[in-house]
Parts: sequence; structure tokens; C-alpha cells
Amino acid sequence: MALAALVLLLAAAVTGFLVVKQGLGSGAGSGEQAVRETVPADDSAAMQSEVFQSVPLPGESASGSGVVGAIGPVAAVRITPRPPIPAAAASTTGQRLAGRIICIDPGHAINTNSGTEPIGPGSSETKTTEPGGTSGVVSGVPEYVVTLAIAKQLKVLLEAEGAQVVMVREGDSFEGLARDRTLIANQAGADLYVRIHCDGSTNQSANGVSTLYPASIPGWTDDIVVESTRAAKSIQAALVNGLGVPDLGAVERSDMLGFNWSDVPAILAEVGFMTNPDEDRRLASPDYQLRVAQALDAGIADYFSAS
Ligand SMILES: [Zn+2]
Repeated sequence: MALAALVLLLAAAVTGFLVVKQGLGSGAGSGEQAVRETVPADDSAAMQSEVFQSVPLPGESASGSGVVGAIGPVAAVRITPRPPIPAAAASTTGQRLAGRIICIDPGHAINTNSGTEPIGPGSSETKTTEPGGTSGVVSGVPEYVVTLAIAKQLKVLLEAEGAQVVMVREGDSFEGLARDRTLIANQAGADLYVRIHCDGSTNQSANGVSTLYPASIPGWTDDIVVESTRAAKSIQAALVNGLGVPDLGAVERSDMLGFNWSDVPAILAEVGFMTNPDEDRRLASPDYQLRVAQALDAGIADYFSAS
């Protein structure tokens, strides 16, 4: 009898586990934490690439039902190595980003896409999906490599402070439209969507950092402008302070697909010019990439601390 009861209990536990996993997309149940703890960190990259390859097109996710729920929040959970700490506990643990969901988007990818797509929902104005980024004038390193290196360093820093980090890509390639990147941030319900890019110019002496934020466009970005602007100013100040390079300002933009499709506060950091020989050499070095990540981390934390 005792053995039968034990078997029954075990079966119930396993079933419960599966049910909790299935139900993750729909909200934060008490079981969510238990599942988070059972997801091994090493598994997360593989899980994540699966998730990202199945990101739906905007038309498919417009209802906000099943598909969105099944992908977004699960992605957020999968790549989180520890459960979030309640906000009330944050000050005593030093986890200043506890409970925050941050989506990091390393700009560009190894694969380009010369197709075009609308610059915002329902727009007849279009932009090239993935024209490819700039590259180092001295180092020859492509922008997508530098942005990913910085993004990975930033992920570690943010997670150490209790944030849940959702990466748009963790490998060199990104399959999908440009707006699919933004949909990952939307579906994750990110508190902040951080896009990382490097600048380029035909003028090799141009150098310094800028942080872009969305202009207010009714129906597209009017609901995220206030927070995006505040985040951009915090991050720009931290970049200038942390890197000691020229301050090219926080800059409003109305033409950016990655802003116009965003439902969450969004910024784009241009962390230096790869067309400037000095800045290119620095950006290609892991030490400087870490400094950029630390500056971004400081700016993000400043933004949330004032929330
Ligand atoms: Zn770029």
C-alpha cells in the first residue's frame, strides 16, 4: 500500500511539473519559480534559439493570444539562471534590477536581407530589412560581432543584478524580419528594449557616442516616448561618463523600425564609430567592450532607480 501511494505521489508530482511548464506563458503562478530553478543554465541557449526561430510574424501575433503567450514569457524564463527576487528584497540583497525584464538586441547579423518592410504597423513607407552594419576601418571586424560581444557582457552584468534578460540573438545569425527583433521585446513584456549598435561615417574623424529614442508618433510610439526618452538620457549620460568620449547626445528618431514596432520603452545606443581608427581599435577589444557593457548597465540601473 505504501509503495502504491508513493508511486501515485510521484506521478502527481511529474504531472504537476508538466502542467506548470505548459502554463508558464499565461502568467506568474507560484509554480513558475519552481520551474525556473529546474531549468539548467546550460540548456538555455539551445532552448532560446528554438524559441527565436519560431517567432511569429506580426499578423500572426496580433491577437495577443496563444502564440504570443507560448513564446514570449517562456523565452524570458528560459534564459534566466535564477528566479527574480521580489522588489521589496532588492535593496537588502543589492539586486537593484530584481524583477526587471530587459531585452538586449545586438545590432545586425552575419546574414543580410535586402528585402523591405514597413517602418511601422500599417505604413506604406518601407526600409531594407537587414542591410548589414558597418565594420572596423582598421580592425576589419564587422559591427554584428562587436554588438554581440558587448551584449553578452551586458547580459552577465544585468543578470548578476537580478534582471531577467531576453537576448534577440546569441549567435551570429538572425533569421526573420527586422520587426521580428522588436516583437521579441514586445512578447517578453520587456521593461526596457536595449538595442546596441556601432556608428559609421564617411568622415573618419567622427567619434563619440549617442543614444537614440523614438519620436512620438500617434498609434505607434506615443505610449512609450516618455519612458524611452528618460532611459535614453540616463544611458547616454552613463556612456559619456564611463567611456570618456564625445557626447553626441540623446537623439529623437521617427524613422526607426525597431522603435515604431515597439510596445515597450526602447532605446538604441550607438556606442562608438567603427570608421574612426582609434574608436575602432577600442571597440574591437574585449576590455573596452566590457567598459561599454558596464556603462550601459550603469545607465540602465540609473533609469530604473528613478522609476
Ligand atoms: Zn548598426
